[in-house]
Amino acid sequence: MLIVMRSDAGPGDIERVLAVVERLGFRGHAMPGESRTAIGITGNEGSIDPANFENLPGVAEAIRVTKPYKLISRDLRSEKSIVQVGTSSIGDGSMTMIAGPCAVESREQLFETAEAVAASGAKFFRGGAFKPRTSPYAFQGLGEDGLKLLAEVREEFGLNIVTEAMDEKGIELVAKYGDCIQIGARNMQNFALLKYAGQANKPILLKRGLSATLDEFLLAAEYVMSEGNYQVILCERGIRTFADHARNTLDLSVIPAVRRISHLPIIVDPSHGTGHNYMVDAMARAGLAAGADGLIIEVHPKPSVALCDGAQALTTEQYLALYDQLDRLYQALNEKGEVAASPVSPAFTGVTTAARELS
Ligand code: PEP
Ligand code: MN
Repeated sequence: MLIVMRSDAGPGDIERVLAVVERLGFRGHAMPGESRTAIGITGNEGSIDPANFENLPGVAEAIRVTKPYKLISRDLRSEKSIVQVGTSSIGDGSMTMIAGPCAVESREQLFETAEAVAASGAKFFRGGAFKPRTSPYAFQGLGEDGLKLLAEVREEFGLNIVTEAMDEKGIELVAKYGDCIQIGARNMQNFALLKYAGQANKPILLKRGLSATLDEFLLAAEYVMSEGNYQVILCERGIRTFADHARNTLDLSVIPAVRRISHLPIIVDPSHGTGHNYMVDAMARAGLAAGADGLIIEVHPKPSVALCDGAQALTTEQYLALYDQLDRLYQALNEKGEVAASPVSPAFTGVTTAARELS
């Protein structure tokens, strides 16, 4: 069920609706929009009688939702969401760049990379302290010591830290030291972890699973949001296909597909999406041209000795040159309104119009 409030509804009206939702044994999620608030209801297995809400003050409409997702949907929130990550935000119309090494290896490696990332003008730094490796014998990350180094990077360079958590303890630690919790591709359908991430008070960067369909990807985000954490950023990072010229197949068509359905920001990872240093710049440009809110890119001062994903890492020099190019490309695309204005079909721009189509 979706409750659309009138544009003149006050906080008391919203509270009253939420109290009724709670009394019925469900959970209400208020999503303020530019002109009005919509309230999504989760926790109900069957349909809810709209009569419970229709006559409450401030309620414009109570509509049954028949789609598999509720909270990620443009039907609940027609405007794009902006996610605050530390001191900066994602999805606000500026180009997001999250750059840094695959893994935190040492203080020297981290600081040398961070210096280039800060110099580029990027606001976000990445680096894994907990690494999901295919082989148990491969470098697993520095753990909490790695997170402490990332926290030092934030202090020294003012960069906001994005780093992966693989289990509940990891989520607690990343929430303590970092600014954004990454849920990696391999954990996109770890539902217990998604629920836990939904209870964290930090934004979540959710990477698409290696073989996830669009619905599975969006429902993973729905898991996080249904627990009350609405700060979710999606990330396309390539999927497994028969093509073997690249590590994965970067599926850029998922960007307009996500835009059509969801208000959540989406970024592209051309590093894991290709696995090859020489492919990263072309696919980074393509990601922005396809309408992504930004990119996450792996950078290493010396890729040949990297402990993880060296083949796809850019050198700091390559990264700086690429950033400059991407910055200009993003501005050019947005000046003309081509990226910002086009992705949503008219049928999905109004909460009430779209919601009516569902009932
Ligand atoms: C990473 O970002 O280093 C990573 C492991 O990504 P993914 O989960 O997309 O493979
Ligand atoms: Mn990596």
